[in-house]
Amino acid sequence: MLELQGLEKRYATGDLALKGVSLQLGAGEVVGLIGPSGAGKSSLIRCINRLVVPSAGSVVFDGVDMGRQNARGLRAARRRIGMIFQEYALVERLTVMENLLSGRLGYTGFWASWFRRFDARDIERAFGLLERVGLAGMEDKRADALSGGQRQRVGIARALMQDPRLLLVDEPTASLDPKTSRQVMRLLLELCQERGLAAIVNIHDVVLATEYLPRIIGLRAGTVVYDGPASGVDQRV
Ligand code: ADP
Ligand code: ADP
Repeated sequence: MLELQGLEKRYATGDLALKGVSLQLGAGEVVGLIGPSGAGKSSLIRCINRLVVPSAGSVVFDGVDMGRQNARGLRAARRRIGMIFQEYALVERLTVMENLLSGRLGYTGFWASWFRRFDARDIERAFGLLERVGLAGMEDKRADALSGGQRQRVGIARALMQDPRLLLVDEPTASLDPKTSRQVMRLLLELCQERGLAAIVNIHDVVLATEYLPRIIGLRAGTVVYDGPASGVDQRV
């Protein structure tokens, strides 16, 4: 469902963040992307939905070549890709429900959402997701009144509002304590399994990664140095 071929990213500063990354992901496959800070993990997941535009190489998602789309085609493809961030990226002054509904348009069009009418299906879907992530009854709480773990659950629910086929998850537990981190990882895994969702989880905590994610891709200085089962990950990765 996802195929990266010879992906390169050179930033305007001259930094070569990705040096020819190729990998494939099957439908419903969940992988952990590990590697030291600066390895290119963030650049890689952002290249997939073109938040970062690759310098060379191709990204084919569900048969769609992401580099050959016009704005409309890209928007349609991005609707099938959910993003979850380390810092949750919630709008602090809005309620949980408002955050879920504004996320419906994706990260590109927040203000546009004010001008869009939400239909009953969106709201029903939001209630269902809140219940599923363990936040039933929290819909009217403001985002800034939630704990870190609750905020990440909202982040997860929001990413699922658009019924994506692929999740790009950037350091989901970096701001959470160990116990909450494990709860969030377990929830993510369960949701992927239930929905046949593929995911790439950028996570620098190798212990957490190998505990929860069946396949691990190790990145170092912009190059894939390991791609295999979590059980085969050793010190070199
Ligand atoms: P990681 O997520 O593994 O920490 P990043 O993808 O953030 O790695 O960074 C990889 C390399 O690209 C680093 O050298 C970083 O400084 C550089 N880099 C990342 N984002 C930018 C940017 N917007 N502009 C210039 N260089 C960048
Ligand atoms: P990460 O947690 O992925 O390592 P960073 O702290 O490296 O994130 O980067 C935070 C933000 O700054 C990102 O948006 C990244 O693209 C950008 N960035 C990282 N390195 C550079 C750089 N050398 N020049 C400009 N922007 C950068």
